[in-house]
Amino acid sequence: MTQSPVAIPASPPVLRFAPSPTGLLHVGNARTALYNALLARRAGGTFILRYDDTDAARSTAAFAEAIAQDLDWLGIPPDRVARQSDRVALYRAAAERLKAMGRLYPAYESEEELEQRRLSRRRRGLPPIYDRAALALTGDDRARLEAEGRRPHWRFRLDGRAVSWVDGVRGAQTVDTATLSDPVLVREDGTFLYTLPSVVDDIDMGVTLVVRGEDHVTNTGVQIEIIEALGAVPPGFAHHNLLTLPSGEGLSKRLGHLSLRALREDGQEALAVAALAALTGTSLAVQAVPDLDTLAAKIDLAAISRAPARFDPDDLAGLTAATLHLADHAAVAERLAGLGIGGGAAFWNAVRGNLGRITDAARWWQVVTGPLAPVIAPEDRGFLDQALAVLPPEPWGEDVWPVWIAALKPSAGRSGRALFHPLRLALTAAESGPELKALLPLIGRERAAARLRGEAA
Ligand code: GLU
Repeated sequence: MTQSPVAIPASPPVLRFAPSPTGLLHVGNARTALYNALLARRAGGTFILRYDDTDAARSTAAFAEAIAQDLDWLGIPPDRVARQSDRVALYRAAAERLKAMGRLYPAYESEEELEQRRLSRRRRGLPPIYDRAALALTGDDRARLEAEGRRPHWRFRLDGRAVSWVDGVRGAQTVDTATLSDPVLVREDGTFLYTLPSVVDDIDMGVTLVVRGEDHVTNTGVQIEIIEALGAVPPGFAHHNLLTLPSGEGLSKRLGHLSLRALREDGQEALAVAALAALTGTSLAVQAVPDLDTLAAKIDLAAISRAPARFDPDDLAGLTAATLHLADHAAVAERLAGLGIGGGAAFWNAVRGNLGRITDAARWWQVVTGPLAPVIAPEDRGFLDQALAVLPPEPWGEDVWPVWIAALKPSAGRSGRALFHPLRLALTAAESGPELKALLPLIGRERAAARLRGEAA
């Protein structure tokens, strides 16, 4: 008897979003966060929020808090939160290992000296990369420099080779690290630049896939070298295109471009922002989704374009409306309650198709609950008296509107707009809006009768 092969489940993926808490997240950051969070969610994996806060001068607790709130608002709260500022011991240990291997070496050049050397290399037609002069320093040289009061920064000695990976978005990629400067990993004051902590954390946290902006492609060549030097296997990498403003200008966290905070305060739907941020700049249709799982199911790294993509905030208004039109009552019930709006699913289903923003529901809640001053043209007075006379008695079910209209039409001798428009104006004081068929039972007989009589109710 042949035994069927045992299926070994692939271990669930671990993805992370690693913002520096130096500003408010913008839609481009949301794109990165969503890809990571939704790919993790779809596969039953883990989504980590990792604050890249080694830059103590620019990172703030308030921005970190705002980032967490923005992810909650988007509906992608992390499964785990980590702060690089809590993990410095790990980075120190990794730096010591690299030093012991001769891969991390001290260099003493000042910024001005480096700039001079770059200029002189350019003049000689050489690429302006670091010339590795510090590798030639003897122990005596170093002692002399330190006696002068110089402190070293530390550079990673690149192999200078073709580093290749298969990128989830861009396909086969190669970075020739021979064309790059040996990166500084540790500053003079002993603090770490982004490169090493990121690698150490990705290894330590078991990150399986790094999805980030294509501004990091070159870093990936460097980081794969460091990961391998530390004896680890690189995760997968996928570099998505960047979103720009409609003008083509890149988004800046520092300048507060298209911040999620501002879009939220403007009344845009989180799900609409998520759909636009994730689907713009891909071969997929940009459309409203009923929930994040639906969006997660659509995400396809291979469908992401290579060119930068313009994010047009003007598209957001339409998508916010379309998102509300799709939303189930359960998805909005809490927010409606917060706006003082009741009426349950019957009210929501009646009005959602007429909303541009969720706060517009307040106007229709007012129509349903009053008080409202009816709008009645003098020439319609008689018609509305007729309408009042045949207004069905209670109890009112869902069919009260067709029953009423069937009774009214022959006696009034009107049809179409001449029939419906005066009723709409009297009952809702508005030129247009949700179907009267759905609104009338919510308004109720007493209030409807008063409005037909011309009384505010
Ligand atoms: N803090 C980096 C950034 O926001 C993280 C890049 C990465 O994902 O490795 O660009």
